[in-house]
Amino acid sequence: MCGVIGIHSQSDVSKKLFYGLNSLQHRGQEASGICVYDGESMVLEKGMGLVYDNFDDESFLKLSGNIGIGHVRYATAGGSHEYNSQPLLAFSKNKEFALAHNGNLVNHKSIRKELEEEGMLFQTSIDTEVILSLVAKFYEGDIIEAVKKTMARIKGAYSVVMLFEDKLVAFRDPNGFRPLLIGESQKGEVIIASENAPLEIIGTDKIRDVKPSEIILVDENGIHSDFYEKDNREHCIFEYVYFARTDATLDGVNSYNFRRRCGEILSKEAPVEADLVIAVPDSGTPGAMGYAQESGIPFAEGLVKNRYMGRTFIKPTPEERELSVKLKLNPLETVLKDKRIVVVDDSIVRGTTSKNLIMRMKKAGAKEVHMRIVSPPVKYPCFYGIDTPSRKNLIAANYSVEEIREKIGADSLAFISMDGMLGATGLKEDVFCKSCFNGNYAVEPKELIV
Ligand code: 5GP
Ligand code: MG
Repeated sequence: MCGVIGIHSQSDVSKKLFYGLNSLQHRGQEASGICVYDGESMVLEKGMGLVYDNFDDESFLKLSGNIGIGHVRYATAGGSHEYNSQPLLAFSKNKEFALAHNGNLVNHKSIRKELEEEGMLFQTSIDTEVILSLVAKFYEGDIIEAVKKTMARIKGAYSVVMLFEDKLVAFRDPNGFRPLLIGESQKGEVIIASENAPLEIIGTDKIRDVKPSEIILVDENGIHSDFYEKDNREHCIFEYVYFARTDATLDGVNSYNFRRRCGEILSKEAPVEADLVIAVPDSGTPGAMGYAQESGIPFAEGLVKNRYMGRTFIKPTPEERELSVKLKLNPLETVLKDKRIVVVDDSIVRGTTSKNLIMRMKKAGAKEVHMRIVSPPVKYPCFYGIDTPSRKNLIAANYSVEEIREKIGADSLAFISMDGMLGATGLKEDVFCKSCFNGNYAVEPKELIV
């Protein structure tokens, strides 16, 4: 879980990278970084913390350059160290290679071991460094060839932006697990990023997805596109369920429309008599709107959200996770009192959020609480870059729907069906990775299963 951006321009890009990263902040709040090429060499500034806190006027002065990349990193178990922040920068063969990655490789451990046996030293403990090392190792004068050779070795999910001399390079794995888009402005400025928001905000037209397997090189001659091999689409459906912004249109699916349709479909699959539909904001909101509209039950705001909390899911202890749910969302007694409530959320992972909210909504006077989830039960870990915990912490991997209902204290509980969710994409063909719901892994994650 991360966000990447790269810009190739005729003018300074440091502030644009900063604004772009700000609009990708939801994809990672642990660390952030920017690397630019100033015409002679790479300049890198990165550290732990939010984009807004990490850069100021002084850093923009240092980071002056017309080509650059940026990264926001999500907290994942065990790896929360400054040395793991990105972009990564390496020096090899008298060249500088800088790279930022979103996704997760499934075979980085064995490649790392092999490289270590050859004498390579690593500066980080992340899979991304393996990509950087391979590109540098395979480089013999043609950067695209080096990327192709790297893609032949690495397996799993990778959406990568890279700086090499005065070139911006980007590549996406053949399954297209994680999103990546490219846009160009009328002035010829090219932006590549994890979502469309930064492209729209900084200002580009002709926005399109970087295709699975595609390798893009941007230099003073414009955009050059190449392919590693045929694609086999496995776009992460959880991007639309939860991870991406509501305004994201990724690989032909708009996340707002998807969430809203899921709500409509769920209201038909699992109707209930109630007085009000409320959302668990923000990612549950479009689903709740859809549920309300389709069922005819009025939509109301029953939970007040603290806007300054960010995404608070990966706290180390259960106590901290519960406290952060409390801090983040507070029930609105005047709305809930004596009412039968349908609560719509995007997903149940550990069950912490629902359990805590239902208890507090009942305390605030809600007569009945019916939980409706606009994604199927999350039963399997993700090996391609979404930080779903191991099976023992996934409530749906260990309990039936009825048992979960009881544990979270709901009067009823329903999840959308797999077919319902797929129908909400509006696409005829199934081109999605649903491994967190069904355990079907398109790229064997053997090395990562503990
Ligand atoms: P639970 O509390 O059941 O563990 O998680 C479900 C809640 O966390 C939902 O409200 C959902 O919006 C949110 N959520 C689901 N997946 C993720 C994730 O990967 N990261 C974060 N930060 N929140 C998540
Ligand atoms: Mg949520």
